[in-house]
Amino acid sequence: MTESPRIVVLAGGVGGSKFTLGVREALVRRGAPEATVVVNTGDDLWLSGVRLQPDIDSIVYALAGVNDVVRGWGRAGDTERVNHELQAWGAGWPWFTLGDLDLGTHLARTGWLRDGLTPTQVLERMSRRWPLGAHLLPMTDAEVDTIVHVRDGAAMHFQEWWTRHRATLEPTAFENPGIAAAQPAPGVVEAIAAADVVLLAPSNPVVSIGPILAVPGIREALATTSATVVGVSPIIGGRVVRGMADVCLTAIGVETSAAAVAGHYGARRDGGLLDAWLLAEEDAALAPAVEGRGIRSVVCPLWMTDAAATAAIVEHALAAADA
Ligand code: GDP
Ligand code: CA
Repeated sequence: MTESPRIVVLAGGVGGSKFTLGVREALVRRGAPEATVVVNTGDDLWLSGVRLQPDIDSIVYALAGVNDVVRGWGRAGDTERVNHELQAWGAGWPWFTLGDLDLGTHLARTGWLRDGLTPTQVLERMSRRWPLGAHLLPMTDAEVDTIVHVRDGAAMHFQEWWTRHRATLEPTAFENPGIAAAQPAPGVVEAIAAADVVLLAPSNPVVSIGPILAVPGIREALATTSATVVGVSPIIGGRVVRGMADVCLTAIGVETSAAAVAGHYGARRDGGLLDAWLLAEEDAALAPAVEGRGIRSVVCPLWMTDAAATAAIVEHALAAADA
């Protein structure tokens, strides 16, 4: 492969943004063009009259260097004056904090949407404020917010299940109403078709990567691209690194193991997605099981502790694509 591969990344929010920082670092070092990052919009929601796109905002803020690295979400140094006022009005959700700076983003986005811009055009406009070093695309322009069905028959928005209930209500299904009629955002299929390597970030396989793959046309584009498709395990040593992805995996009948997640994505030769899969050193014993499924396995450190460590992961992925 060339020193300047064309890279497409599929990504969710926090894991996706850490990974994207590493991709940017690796490509800058190579003098390669910016990656295209296809971002999950299954977490999106309307709240207090504004449109929230949590995974997009996580990636924009992280690439811009304005994210709150301590809390792990939102803007650094944010305040909550408007949030207190909303709560005094009984508006919004009392368990869902909207920071003041963050609300500025949501207001700008909502205004542009109401002016008639598509989510893709809104993201393009948002990408002009800071030099992000990556080309961001939403997975789709359609609104396909995730609904979680839980054991007692209730259903709620993903954000309520995740943030209010901390994923403690046993899920029976994740649904993205309308997704069967959704289309990939303009440029997504084209970018996948033109890529040399497609990287699946170590994002939540069910509620971050899952919705992206569920947009009709994206899975097909991955199946037919001449690019090599390499996934990175979000599971290290049989555990999720952070978040509640294990609960999501259990709900769809997938074990919380790096090999099981690789099996869930499947080998390309069998109609699945993966040519290669990066496993953590802690999971080296699973490499034969992954290989046995027809997926090339690479064992390397998978802790995204900083951009340099993550860039090293990306280099392993690019080497795997070359092999
Ligand atoms: P969200 O949309 O904010 O929930 O974030 P993502 O879906 O993009 O990423 C969440 C996933 O990232 C979790 O399932 C974690 O296991 C995974 N993750 C977080 N940090 C790391 C890390 O340092 N290494 C690896 N391999 N996975 C990580
Ligand atoms: Ca997310």
